[in-house]
Amino acid sequence: MRVLLLGGTTEGRELMGLLVLAGTDVVESVAGRTAQARTSGADRVGGFGGVEGLSSYLRANNIDAVVDATHPFAATMTAHAARACTATGTPLVRLSRPSWAERSDAGGWTWVPDHRATAAAVAESGASERGRVLLTVGRQPLDAYRTLPHVLARVAEVPDGWLDRPGWELRVQRGPFDLDSELTMLRTERISALVSKDSGGRAAAAKLDAAARLGIAVFMVARPAPPRGIDEVATTAAVVEWLKARRPA
Ligand code: NAP
Repeated sequence: MRVLLLGGTTEGRELMGLLVLAGTDVVESVAGRTAQARTSGADRVGGFGGVEGLSSYLRANNIDAVVDATHPFAATMTAHAARACTATGTPLVRLSRPSWAERSDAGGWTWVPDHRATAAAVAESGASERGRVLLTVGRQPLDAYRTLPHVLARVAEVPDGWLDRPGWELRVQRGPFDLDSELTMLRTERISALVSKDSGGRAAAAKLDAAARLGIAVFMVARPAPPRGIDEVATTAAVVEWLKARRPA
């Protein structure tokens, strides 16, 4: 059984380790947007060329099953995987870490459907006048927030073509961050609001715990809806079981 693992996440890496240990014939693929991804040791780096390209890849490489372990916000890859697997009749499972919507403090956050709406909601709240807004949304959507006057943007890598903006600080730091360091950072940097994507999981959750402790407003960008009708599981162990159930006897 030959498996294509669409990765680029911590869970993708973990799953790759589990599958290799179990002796599964697996190809790990990453987009290669970050230097970390490009040097991660994945078997292939770079896009497939849309739905057509991925469909051709699945056929040419005799792929028996696809595991989509991409990030919850990698909506294009997830949609392409769903369409290519339908077109080629390839079984597909999506590994999706649990949403932060299940947290007890989630009801107190401002939930917003996309980055432009979030920027507007933050501006309306006046948070960027009272202190600094901490953006933890990655590099790609920063432009949507450009009208906010006082911002600390935490990113894992400097965005391509980044130009300094008055009132903005770009902090290049890669997590995980623990509760104590997040509490210290929120206090010393005069953070008045936290903006996050609903990435989910534990690795990036300390900022939410710290914001809750300090009563800092949280603006949460909701996840894009996944394509309908695909199998979805929440853990790497569940993916292993899903694959076992499809292994030829
Ligand atoms: P995206 O918008 O859904 O994907 C854009 C294009 O990148 C896809 O159409 C595909 O190109 C290529 N691609 C994405 N994932 C790929 C993979 N695993 N293997 C091969 N090609 C892939 O994705 P994105 O939001 O830019 O994220 C890119 C990658 O970074 C994803 O793999 C994701 O897991 C990881 N990541 C994303 C985030 C985030 O917040 N978005 C955070 C952490 C990690 P083709 O159409 O040419 O096939």
